[in-house]
Amino acid sequence: MVTYARRMERLGTETAFEVLARAKALEAQGREILHFEIGEPDFDTPTHIKEAAIRALHDGYTHYGPTAGLPELRVAIAEAVSKSRGIAVTPEEVVVTPGAKPIIFFTLLACAQAGDEVIYPNPSFPIYESMINFVGATPVPIPLLESAAFSFDMERLEASLSPRTKLIILNSPGNPTGGIIPAADLHRIAEIAVSRGIMVLSDEIYSGMQYEGTPVSIAAFPGMQDLTILLDGFSKLYAMTGWRLGYGVARPHMADHLSKLMVNSASCTASFVQMAGVAALYGPQEPAQRMVAEFRRRREIIVQGLNAIADLSCAMPQGAFYAFPNIRAFECSSAEMASRLLQEAGIACLSGTAFGEYGEGYLRFSYANSEGNIRNMLEKLANFLQKLTA
Ligand code: PLP
Repeated sequence: MVTYARRMERLGTETAFEVLARAKALEAQGREILHFEIGEPDFDTPTHIKEAAIRALHDGYTHYGPTAGLPELRVAIAEAVSKSRGIAVTPEEVVVTPGAKPIIFFTLLACAQAGDEVIYPNPSFPIYESMINFVGATPVPIPLLESAAFSFDMERLEASLSPRTKLIILNSPGNPTGGIIPAADLHRIAEIAVSRGIMVLSDEIYSGMQYEGTPVSIAAFPGMQDLTILLDGFSKLYAMTGWRLGYGVARPHMADHLSKLMVNSASCTASFVQMAGVAALYGPQEPAQRMVAEFRRRREIIVQGLNAIADLSCAMPQGAFYAFPNIRAFECSSAEMASRLLQEAGIACLSGTAFGEYGEGYLRFSYANSEGNIRNMLEKLANFLQKLTA
């Protein structure tokens, strides 16, 4: 019998893709499914970005490029990140990757190993925990509590530190909760990281989608640029999920490791896709702004609608495009509720536990969906829950 490397047993998955496949299978049988599972904008990539990619194809951007990214894109990203985060980033500190996800993979491979502890939010993007386990490090979850607006529990964080803490993962605004980490807490985390020499992976993929206040990056606090791997990308803000274009920003000692992992895996990111990224950053920002304004509007509709359903409550997400309602009043686990909603009500959403154990009692709905579909889903959800408690 064929045997595989042990480490494969430690690798997790991203449930959104599994639920999407199940929902598609039901659709193939003729069932009507409302899609609230996958985290991607329902908007098309802006036209000027698509045209830039087509132009790049005709202009010969069909070859291998430099491992860390095309110089013109690294310059554009360095400028954009410097401006949005209020820090000075050089192009040498930028590593372009096929989607932002590899930055999580590469950071864990480069920074953590057996014997190390990695602090991360829970519930959160499932790839963090999966990758911590994969590299043999010990995951140290910090529960994100609704009572603390789904921010980091600072007391718990401080109590979880140990001499073995190697890396802290932050995600603000956060998936799946829409919570943000207040600047004062980021400041405290920065002080801890600097005093103990702990690296921080700051996943800022939703920083362009913060509805309350101004986004603050931990990289902007004193001493933190030397310790931060800032992750961002084009998937969400420019509606480019399928293009696969993201990046990491880190000091050269870390950026070199990210590049080395790139040359050993993907070689480089598709050249014409990178030219589309240049157009995204230098071109008109109105399409992205319009999309974010629309998400802000839908956020009100979905949250108001969820709170209008008896025994359901939903905190107002402050960023990203996810609603994370509390279903604790129902005598049903999150996983069972999500599964029954798909099978019995034709609503595809995710169990809070798809994001970790502390997601129990919640569901995640991606509201990157039309107003009509949101209203339709709310009606079906209300009917289903009413029958459930009848
Ligand atoms: N980080 C978070 C928190 C996400 O939610 C996602 C995508 O859903 C990513 C990273 C990965 O983004 P990309 O599609 O660019 O790889």
